[in-house]
Amino acid sequence: MAHNEAVDVVLVGAGIMSATLAVLLKELDPAIKLEVVELMDSGAAESSNPWNNAGTGHAGLCELNYTPQAADGTVDIKKAVHINTQFEVSKQFWSYLTKKGTFGSCKTFISPVPHLSFVQGDSGVSFLKERFKVLSKHHAFADMEYTEDKATMAQWMPLMMPGRNAGETLAATRVINGTDVNFGALTNQLLKHLTSAPDAQVKYCKRVTSLKRSNGGWTVSIKDVNSGNTREVDAKFVFLGAGGAALPLLQASGIEESKGFGGFPISGQWLRCDNPEVVKHHQAKVYSQAAVGSPPMSVPHLDTRVVDGKTSLLFGPYAGFTTKFLKHGSFMDLPLSVRAGNIGPMLAVAKNNMDLTKYLVSEVMQSMEQRLESLRRFYPEAKAEDWRLEVAGQRVQIIKKDPKKGGILQFGTELVAAKDGSLAALLGASPGASVTVSIMLELIEKCFPNKAKSEWAGKLAEIFPAREKVLESDAALYRKINAQNNVALELVEASSETESYA
Ligand SMILES: Cc1cc2nc3c(=O)[nH]c(=O)nc-3n(C[C@H](O)[C@H](O)[C@H](O)COP(=O)(O)OP(=O)(O)OC[C@H]3O[C@@H](n4cnc5c(N)ncnc54)[C@H](O)[C@@H]3O)c2cc1C
Repeated sequence: MAHNEAVDVVLVGAGIMSATLAVLLKELDPAIKLEVVELMDSGAAESSNPWNNAGTGHAGLCELNYTPQAADGTVDIKKAVHINTQFEVSKQFWSYLTKKGTFGSCKTFISPVPHLSFVQGDSGVSFLKERFKVLSKHHAFADMEYTEDKATMAQWMPLMMPGRNAGETLAATRVINGTDVNFGALTNQLLKHLTSAPDAQVKYCKRVTSLKRSNGGWTVSIKDVNSGNTREVDAKFVFLGAGGAALPLLQASGIEESKGFGGFPISGQWLRCDNPEVVKHHQAKVYSQAAVGSPPMSVPHLDTRVVDGKTSLLFGPYAGFTTKFLKHGSFMDLPLSVRAGNIGPMLAVAKNNMDLTKYLVSEVMQSMEQRLESLRRFYPEAKAEDWRLEVAGQRVQIIKKDPKKGGILQFGTELVAAKDGSLAALLGASPGASVTVSIMLELIEKCFPNKAKSEWAGKLAEIFPAREKVLESDAALYRKINAQNNVALELVEASSETESYA
């Protein structure tokens, strides 16, 4: 075995999370020595690959599950507002990099695509109306439009209106300046930018197999997947950005904070259409409501996707159950993750979520014709020959201890960090890639608290002139930052007003 090498930071996995953190750390400390270790032969080979996720720049503009309705009819917009401002933080980082000139074009990874919500039936319409009433009063959603008029809907969603029953009750909202993001292109652009700096390497076809404590940091064992050779690298800080596979690595670290976590893998499938005659009639991401009993990540949506300069449509996702933690993972992933510390929460979740299990099984058993029926709720005249089924990425939802229920299933993301700040892991999947930058800023504040407050504070303020909290409450500042970001990322043309902000 080779003699241990030493770096400041090892990042496991070359997805959007590690790529973002690595570039951010290099901006804050150009002398930092870091290594990204990836088991596949390229970056963004799992969830960050553009065909493994929906590419929605989640900003709360169209996702109806971000604005739950209480029994008395009131709609809670807190989550939508928070995700919206987190996305503005991501946009600030991408704008900063784009303005540097050496990062490359933003057009490769972000495209303007309107975000719409679409509902059917009386209860759907009353929910959307109330949601619009509350949301449009907030400065982040001031541009939202609402309609129950079918002629307007035919302009907004020309593919979705023909073939409908004239008496159908429908409503929609639209925000013009939504986005489609190719997170795979972004990841690879970040990794390319990273390795143009000294002391930053990305090693492909290498699997992190174990971690052990050493000298206040970690010794990371890395196996070459082709030769089988193993080397060890000493790192002061380790980030487990291994997507669905972060859980077993977190367990392998043995840190106290890892105890009690389990994973619930959910697979996904899409219907994809590349026929230009169909694609040209739909330029939007249209989200609707999830079926009763289904998990929040299965809200159906019909999306324009812009990948490598080509436009396609994606519909889904159709959820499914698997025991793999990665699309390229092993069926043993789930059974091997069972520990004395998480078996209680895992059994409690299995017992208390029978509806979810039934839903996932029914989704897996669907025929192509049944899948097309779901699509026809959106696009009544859809023809089978235009659509093909594709496998989406894996999501490993978090199972954690709960004092009352024994264990709960959590649909968001959670950053788990060692008390001494020497290791952090990202668990969970949603809202995911769109809010990567906020999550990585949270990691920096948790694991590098002193540096974040002192030597890195100036650079952080330069890159991020306005963070989430202030954007939530300061309307004028929000408008200024949003306008600057939209111009820098070429989402809108610069007007004299936005130029004066720049
Ligand atoms: C169906 C679906 C739809 C989604 N839609 C959206 C969306 O519309 N908008 C949005 O913002 N987010 C979306 N997401 C979430 C988003 O895709 C993820 O949050 C994000 O891509 C996660 O990035 P990551 O870097 O953590 O993980 P990944 O991109 O999965 O990267 C992890 C990497 O770690 C590597 N790895 C694993 N184990 C090891 C090991 N032991 N050693 C070395 N390397 C290892 C893997 O090979 C992989 O390359 C969606 C996800 C799914 C599954």
